[in-house]
Amino acid sequence: MKTGTCDIMIVGAGPVGLMCAYLSKICGLSFVIADSSEGPLKEGRADALNARTLQLLELVGLFDGLYSRGKICNTSSVWSNGAFLSRQSAWWDDLEGCLHKHFLMLGQAHLEGLLDQKLHECGNAVHRHTSVLQIEQTDRGCTTFLSDGSVIHSSFVIGADGSRSFVRGLFGIPFEITRPRMVWAVVDGVISTDFPKVPEIIVFQNETSDVAWIPREGDLDRFYVRMDQDKFSQEEVLEKIGRAIRPHVLNFDTIVWFSQFSVKESVAERFAVGHRVFLAGDACHIHSVNGGQGLNTGIADAFNLIWKLKMVVHNGASVSLLESYENERKPVAKSVIESSGELVRSTKYSETGTHAQDYVKLVEKRSGNITGMGIRYGKSGVAGTRLFDFELMHREEKTRIYSLLDYSKYSLLVFGDVGELPSGSDYLQCLQISNHFGGGEIRAQSLPFDNVAVLVRPDSYIADVFPLTDLPAVFRNLEIENLIESLS
Ligand SMILES: Cc1cc2nc3c(=O)[nH]c(=O)nc-3n(C[C@H](O)[C@H](O)[C@H](O)COP(=O)(O)OP(=O)(O)OC[C@H]3O[C@@H](n4cnc5c(N)ncnc54)[C@H](O)[C@@H]3O)c2cc1C
Repeated sequence: MKTGTCDIMIVGAGPVGLMCAYLSKICGLSFVIADSSEGPLKEGRADALNARTLQLLELVGLFDGLYSRGKICNTSSVWSNGAFLSRQSAWWDDLEGCLHKHFLMLGQAHLEGLLDQKLHECGNAVHRHTSVLQIEQTDRGCTTFLSDGSVIHSSFVIGADGSRSFVRGLFGIPFEITRPRMVWAVVDGVISTDFPKVPEIIVFQNETSDVAWIPREGDLDRFYVRMDQDKFSQEEVLEKIGRAIRPHVLNFDTIVWFSQFSVKESVAERFAVGHRVFLAGDACHIHSVNGGQGLNTGIADAFNLIWKLKMVVHNGASVSLLESYENERKPVAKSVIESSGELVRSTKYSETGTHAQDYVKLVEKRSGNITGMGIRYGKSGVAGTRLFDFELMHREEKTRIYSLLDYSKYSLLVFGDVGELPSGSDYLQCLQISNHFGGGEIRAQSLPFDNVAVLVRPDSYIADVFPLTDLPAVFRNLEIENLIESLS
């Protein structure tokens, strides 16, 4: 590849860049994706997919390839000096409108590996060992210069190039970092212990709560250990785990990943430069790992952005639609920084000495962020909320509504009998859902809506709800600009 033309140049093939590429493929957008690394991540980094991410993966056919590899976890417990103090999972159990009410404990490497393989299979592999050196933006598009000498002309650029984003720096987007002076170690490994091992997130309450045990896939376990000093050895970290777990004993048979990070928090001042350049993932928001929100928030950025680019490129939507990306995702990023920030500080500062129990209470308070299910766009009403998943029969097969949604299109779900529906188009599908006794192709035992039509965005958030009496007017106005009106 020396010169090329495409719809989107994607800078970075971490999980967010890879997801942008995969979704672009689904939407029929052409792209080039380049990464300076030699291949997808092999171990370490993020460890959990939340319930909303699992729903989104299901929407685009990635769920089955990952689910069986992970471990289910929906419980947090607190232990102190070998004694059990409390256990909670209410915020997961009470989730409505979703099938998988839990984290899927699964390392980031699995998601990256699957996406990388999918891109290979469709002939759009990542250009590895290839850095982006320069990007020039004009009225007509962007020109990107790569380290292998290639020059790519594209309509859009996505900077999914991580926390030290080259793209963010190049376009001078302010990214002021708060450093609460907290340093953590992370250890992944295979352990032997006489502690009663269960797939729960365990926070140990000692002088502070600076050790957390996270179940992982296969025979792996992870420990987060707050060290609060820049330099420390692996032995010191293991000693601290040993003290937290006393009077039980824990040894690492193998350590597969040992890392440290000092907490940094920031949200980029802008997520876009005009209508051409966009930032996603760690390139536009960084924070502590508490609550497991980094990877999940980045994946949700990708789901928010790519269908909008598709509507502009293929369906004639106005470029002003793209402004909703920053308008919707920046408040989410800010709320993630608040929740992870509150959680990480609570491990250190407690007036009553009950750090770990305070921590679990905060998890409950911030569960909308942590499960991903509380994220909404816009301030009130049903528009902007996620569509609840529900079971239905499609022809004679038992399935769920999320399996019938299409990421490249809006879906107009008509609950009730209105006769023949419009045939749909490249940007809209119409589905009539009748109750159990109706003779329709799609039937549900209990309908979550009655006598209304629900317009659902490609990323499965509700755009609007209409009474069936308004349908003739709705059908007359199915142009793309009318569909996206609720976003502007
Ligand atoms: C050391 C570390 C430990 C972490 N630990 C945890 C954890 O324990 N739990 C947790 O939940 N989260 C953790 N995270 C956070 C989580 O990994 C991130 O939120 C997630 O990786 C974000 O994905 P991303 O695709 O936005 O960025 P990244 O995964 O950082 O990917 C960015 C990609 O861009 C590429 N790139 C950068 N510049 C260029 C360029 N100029 N040209 C071409 N390619 C470029 C890089 O090679 C990289 O592959 C950790 C992150 C780090 C860095």
